[in-house]
Amino acid sequence: MRWGLIGASTIAEQFMIGAIRATGGTVAGVVSTTEARAADFARAQGIPAHGTALSLLLEDPTIGAVYISSTNEKHHAQALAAIRAGKHVLCEKPLAMTVAEASEMVRAADAAGLTFATNHHLRCSGSHRAIRDLIARGRIGRVLSLRLFHAVHLPATLQGWRIKDASAGGGVIPDITVHDADVARFLLGEDPLTVVAQMSASGMGQGVEDSAMSVWTMPSGAMVQSHESFTHPFAGSGLEVHGTEGSIFAKGVMTQRPVGEIELVTGQGREAVPYPQHDLYAQGLTDFLAATEGRGQPAATGWDGVAALAVALAVRTAAQTGTRQTVDIPRAA
Ligand code: NDP
Repeated sequence: MRWGLIGASTIAEQFMIGAIRATGGTVAGVVSTTEARAADFARAQGIPAHGTALSLLLEDPTIGAVYISSTNEKHHAQALAAIRAGKHVLCEKPLAMTVAEASEMVRAADAAGLTFATNHHLRCSGSHRAIRDLIARGRIGRVLSLRLFHAVHLPATLQGWRIKDASAGGGVIPDITVHDADVARFLLGEDPLTVVAQMSASGMGQGVEDSAMSVWTMPSGAMVQSHESFTHPFAGSGLEVHGTEGSIFAKGVMTQRPVGEIELVTGQGREAVPYPQHDLYAQGLTDFLAATEGRGQPAATGWDGVAALAVALAVRTAAQTGTRQTVDIPRAA
């Protein structure tokens, strides 16, 4: 696959360019809003073409797919343009600023017969797949609760639009709660019905929230508790799933790298759970490529991205209003 990059971003530089190349792809060009930045990025990353106009990528018939990792408010227009040009789309989360815009993007790709995926990397990890497998095989019985610990310390290099620009999609809820929503849906195989939440700006956020806690009700009766923050240097990440016959404790697994430990505790005792430690983003790309060739679905589809955004935005509204919110998730036609 020949890829076009939309956005000269940190995530592209740190993870996605390497993952594209590791999965046999070619990064054919990069588009940024600034010519100098596009040129610097292309030079540093060994990308042959660069520019500021999307047409550089969209009018190139040899480019089959675009990876969109611009700031969040740009995803909608860029994805629609790429779909109009017949390109498959791998789009960063949150897909858009609103659920309506996100749905429009995915519906357009469906109508055009193109693959559209959301880069929710956590469900691509061996750890999360192993946890989901334990739950599905009934190792912990009926799930009673899921607790998600995703309070991190945002590195200084990322303390830009994320902590101060609501119009670019800043705030911890569109940034991290959206991932946790995807994790809950992936592990439990069901969508939250309602949410209650609180949020705050605890030292980093300027005009946007930098911390959130929420509780979600699931159709099965399971309860989900979710904590996200940009301001916690030593909290560590993880998740716990508690069931009638056992509990799963996963430490350090809410990350971009294949790390962390999983322990299963049942009446038979405690056991460490091994899992494959592959690159999360390369796995997502492998699943995406197969989907473009008619083999299966991307790891996280466009509709998964829409659903995660619907949950995250319900959390924000719940926190803003102090009221329980119903999660309204649009579906494929
Ligand atoms: P960055 O801030 O690094 O990049 C976002 C955009 O900001 C770039 O496309 C670029 O705009 C502009 N930009 C970046 N660096 C500079 C700079 N030094 N000077 C001026 N402009 C700059 O963000 P991230 O890479 O962290 O995030 C990009 C997207 O990816 C977001 O949607 C985010 O939510 C998502 N993301 C997803 C992750 C995942 O694991 N799935 C992890 C991290 C981020 P342009 O080139 O378009 O002009």
